[in-house]
Order: sequence, then structure tokens, then C-alpha cells
Amino acid sequence: MSYTKLFLQAGRDEAVRRFHPWVFSRAIARYDGDLNDGDVVEVYDRKGVYLATGHYHDGSIAVRLFSFAATAGGPVTPDAAYWTKKLRGIRHIRQAIINSTRDAGPTNCYRLVHGEGDGCTGLIIDVYNGVAVLQAHSIGMHRERMVITEALQAVFGDELTAVYDKSSETLPNEYAGTVINSYLFGQTPVPHPVLENGNTFLIDWITGQKTGFFLDQRDNRALLAQYAPGKRVLNAFCYSGGFSVYAIQAGATDVHSIDSSQKAIALTNQNVTANFSPETYQHEAIADDVLHYLNNHNEQYDIVILDPPAFAKSLSARHRAVQGYKRLNTEGLKRVAKGGILFTFSCSQVIDRELFYNTIVAAAIDAGRQVRVLHHLSQPADHPVSLFHPEGSYLKGLVLWVE
Ligand code: SAH
Repeated sequence: MSYTKLFLQAGRDEAVRRFHPWVFSRAIARYDGDLNDGDVVEVYDRKGVYLATGHYHDGSIAVRLFSFAATAGGPVTPDAAYWTKKLRGIRHIRQAIINSTRDAGPTNCYRLVHGEGDGCTGLIIDVYNGVAVLQAHSIGMHRERMVITEALQAVFGDELTAVYDKSSETLPNEYAGTVINSYLFGQTPVPHPVLENGNTFLIDWITGQKTGFFLDQRDNRALLAQYAPGKRVLNAFCYSGGFSVYAIQAGATDVHSIDSSQKAIALTNQNVTANFSPETYQHEAIADDVLHYLNNHNEQYDIVILDPPAFAKSLSARHRAVQGYKRLNTEGLKRVAKGGILFTFSCSQVIDRELFYNTIVAAAIDAGRQVRVLHHLSQPADHPVSLFHPEGSYLKGLVLWVE
């Protein structure tokens, strides 16, 4: 198979040699052959030395790289055999990661492929107890979906019951409307039960947010469980009730879950009842705007969890987002009982750790509370970050002890 060759401007090869996963359009000097969105292309330096292979897309980020000369040895053909080898290596690491959590109870859902962090730029695959849910962020990766499905079958064998493609909301706007979410292999009824640290969750990848569940909070939920026994807990932005289930399991006396989405409240109730018999817990799930709830209830909680959606999706939205995080955390801090704990998160990629920290400092000043940091949190190991693509580190959190 021969692919179109792109040649970089002088001096523009350094980033690719350092495994940066994107080639910007301004770095390209010339190319031979056709160049269409989604094409596999080979990237060369000015002198014609092969550097990497990726998917082309007309735009500021012109090529999303998934194979580098230094690791692959030379040009590659991304067929089923290529993806099988790659996914086998990735799965090996995932098995070690999931094994390391087994003392907390069995887990059979995790992120198998985390885009750039796994050398698979433009591809997310989450595994839910035998079902792989795929989200392509580039049209090129979406075109690979059938060979990737073949590779998943080769890697997982009988353990794989279905592969579902849910790319219609993640592809670039001009393509999002052209694809229909569907099974690429097998079919599994939803909701589908999974185990996370021994807790049951019912997953619906078809109508749920993202691939159906926020797998990135697994370790942080386990940490919450350590603090929750005997406590009154407020889980704000609960989605399907991940933190709530862990809190009840750990012996929290009272748990309140808040989300503005009725669907999320229904999912939370469903997951709580899937784990516990009714007489064994005190839980209430309330559909409300979190700020509205915080402003209209004077209740104090021993533990407050704030896990809002990304307030900033772009750099231009950053300033407003910071104001939003500050206000939310000021109100959240006011609801923490003396000596209680705040778990606070941001999943906005453009708000880095330092900015988030400083925003929380500002919130604590506004709330007039003495606050100490107990933990700095992030995404779990099945959401790895390339050293050469720090943007992949998106989830940050703080556990604060509030006097
Ligand atoms: N903590 C969750 C994930 C939260 S995702 C977990 O562990 O699974 C963010 C959630 O915030 C979504 O469910 C969304 O419906 C909800 N949300 C967004 N804006 C909100 C608002 N203003 N008030 C309440 N909930 C909101």
C-alpha cells in the first residue's frame, strides 16, 4: 500500500522526532499525491527521511500521528494485524492496572485506549464487561473502525461480546452528522451491568453521556470511600451516582445526589438500588441546578463533592470558566461542616493544575474558611498521558480539609 507523502518545512521535524502527536498545517512544505480528509499519510522531513504515519484532516492540526519511525522502525500499514499488535500491548498494561486495584473489589470496566496517551491519536475505547465502546475523534480513525474491531476480536477472543461505535458526537462537526452510531460486532442489551471496585453500575452506552460512564473517577471514588463512613455526603454533579454508591457502600449515614439532568437522577437511583436493599441506606437524588441547590439549602455536610462538567472547552472560554469554578467552590465550601472535607474537580483541559489550585485559593478566601490540602488528584492510570503531549492530562482534583 502506498500512502501520500507529506514533507515538512526545515526545522519542523523536531517536534515529530520528539513524539508530539500532531503536525500543524503550517509545518507542511509540500506533498505528493492526493490529500483528502481521513487519508493515511506518511510524514517525512525536508530531506526525505521518514518520520511518522498518521491521519490527515484539512485544518490547523493537519495530521494526527499514530506511529513514529523511532518506535515502529519504519513506515507501517494500519491493517488488522497492525492494530492487533498495538492493542495487545495496550491491553497488557490495562490488565496490570486493573489487577493492582483488586483489593478494593473486582473491576471489569476501564478505558482501553486513551487517544494520544496510548499512541492512538483520535481514538477512545472504553470496555464495559465484555463490550467495547469506541469513540473516534478524527474521520481517519473512524475509517479504521472495522479493522480495529477485527483487532479487538483477535485480542479479546471470546471475552468480547460486542463493539459499539458512538462517534456521531465526537467527530469533527462537518462529519458528525454523517455517521450513525451502531454495533460493529455483536449486540448486547442495555443497561449492561459492570463492576467497579466491587460496586455494580448499569451502563447504557446508547443514551448515556460519553461512552456511558465516567471511568476517570474510579480511583477518586475509592478514595472517597475511605473518608465516608458515618458521614453526611453531598454528591453534586452526580451523573450516574458513582460517588454516591461508593459513599453508601462505605457506610455514609446520609447521601444527597444532585444533577440538573432528570436522566442522570434516574440513573443514580437505578445504580443505588442495584447495589443495596432499600432499608439499608439513606439516599436522596434531586434534580436541580447545583448553584441553585447550594444557595437555597443551609444544610451542612461532612463531605461535599463537586465534579462539574468542563466549564472551559477552549482557551477563549478560560477566564469565564475560572470565575465559574471560583463561585461554585465558594458556595461548596460554605456547605462543608466544620472539620469536614471537600472533594473538588475540574476536567477542563485548558485549566491546568496551577490555575485550578489558585482558583480554589480564591474561593477559600471568599468563603472565609481555613483550608488544608489532603490530596492532589488526577485521572487514573488507564487514562495515561504522553510526556510529549501534556494536554492529555485533563482531570485534576483536590481533597480539602475545611475548618
Ligand atoms: N461525578 C460524575 C460525573 C459528572 S459529569 C460521575 O462520577 O460519574 C457532570 C454532570 O453535571 C452531568 O451529569 C451533567 O448533567 C451535570 N450538570 C451540568 N451542569 C449542571 C448544573 N448547572 N447543575 C447540576 N448538574 C449539572
